[in-house]
Amino acid sequence: MSESPLVAFTVDVEPDCPPYLSGFRGIEHGMPRLLDLLAEERVPATFFTTGEVAARFPKVVDRIVRDGHELASHGMTHRAFTTLERGEARREIEESATILRRSATVTSFRAPYLRFPSRYLPLLESAGFTLDSSQAKYKAAYYRDRTTTSIVRVPASVTSSVLRLPRVVRAAYLAAVSDPVVLFVHPWEFVDLRKEQLRIDCRFRTGDTALECVRTVLRGYKTKGARFTRMAELSA
Ligand SMILES: [Zn+2]
Repeated sequence: MSESPLVAFTVDVEPDCPPYLSGFRGIEHGMPRLLDLLAEERVPATFFTTGEVAARFPKVVDRIVRDGHELASHGMTHRAFTTLERGEARREIEESATILRRSATVTSFRAPYLRFPSRYLPLLESAGFTLDSSQAKYKAAYYRDRTTTSIVRVPASVTSSVLRLPRVVRAAYLAAVSDPVVLFVHPWEFVDLRKEQLRIDCRFRTGDTALECVRTVLRGYKTKGARFTRMAELSA
């Protein structure tokens, strides 16, 4: 990692650990704690939010916007775009944009599960999006894709559970990341899911530990002189 890294802290605002759980404990209990932490640390972030969550929890959306964060789209229902026909994909994008744009300008998009067929990029263009963060540098597909598009594509740097790893292990992952550093988390990671019947990467060190990990990571970047950016600024 370079000195003075450029860091985008992003949040995928969705039901609890899809597709394994279906509640909203993350939105109800995790989001307020995460938003408080970001306010305390004065870190602007980008919240990729599903249209369904936005419709169901308008006060959460209000706070995201009021706190100066970027509101962005995470589709409508959190279905994987790889399973959708073109018409369904268009509806997922357009319906979420319609709901979210009642609250803010929304120009950034991230597909659920970081799976977005490149043939659907024109759907984002025609719906007024300018940035896509559906790719991931830790997935092979990112390195194969040669699609040209007017959409600025900014991949996620590491998978979300990396931030919850013990400090020494986490540092090894983060040391290998290049600019811009795109981190992401989910509200449900800040709810204690350790006793749930879930994949291990969805439940280990969730709750208070996860929140403290985020604080430590953000402060670590600050000591390196990091600049924190919202995704929209990367497409400007
Ligand atoms: Zn998601």
